[in-house]
Amino acid sequence: MPKGHYYGRTQTRAYTGEYHRIFAKTFKNLLTVPLGNYSLNADFLNNEHQKFKLTTLECGARMMTFTINNKPHKIALILDKRSASNKLYITCPYCQKQRQSLYAIKYAYGCRQCIGLHYASQSERPNERLMRRIRKLRKELWGYDWPDVNNMFEQIAYWPKPKWMRWKTFNLKRDKITELENIYWPMVDAHMKVMFGHNFMPDC
Ligand SMILES: [Zn+2]
Repeated sequence: MPKGHYYGRTQTRAYTGEYHRIFAKTFKNLLTVPLGNYSLNADFLNNEHQKFKLTTLECGARMMTFTINNKPHKIALILDKRSASNKLYITCPYCQKQRQSLYAIKYAYGCRQCIGLHYASQSERPNERLMRRIRKLRKELWGYDWPDVNNMFEQIAYWPKPKWMRWKTFNLKRDKITELENIYWPMVDAHMKVMFGHNFMPDC
């Protein structure tokens, strides 16, 4: 899909899963190249998300500075020398935590957690809301400590009736959950298609 074009409903709110990401592992060569100005070779990102300056911190670690919306966004490249594979991490400009990837949001880069915090109070995807409801109903029926009560991949069909409950009540409650789960899975499937079909920067 060409950049800037998309189909279907108008996007009014963007979600974590719909953002483009940059991955720490793709920056390994930046540890050895000369310092200076660079641009990410990623045409799904806008200009400000691509251009950065590579500098060195006092501790020796290297840092990328993106200027987005006239503000510097500093992302350090941290090599974990403890692991045999010398895994590379990038730091989130907001929480400074080491991450394997960062999301490109409209005016920044941020980690999943920071973006999640930003949006959690404002919205929840319909399938997430439904999943929460299903889990709540499962717990009401089988209890909080029932194994796999939160595992959406586990089928409830053969989960037992609580001893104290009448069969009629149990069947009604279980059928309700089954009904919701039958709505849930096609939603997740559709969401995945939208998520991986997108090739644009969502407005937020
Ligand atoms: Zn963060």
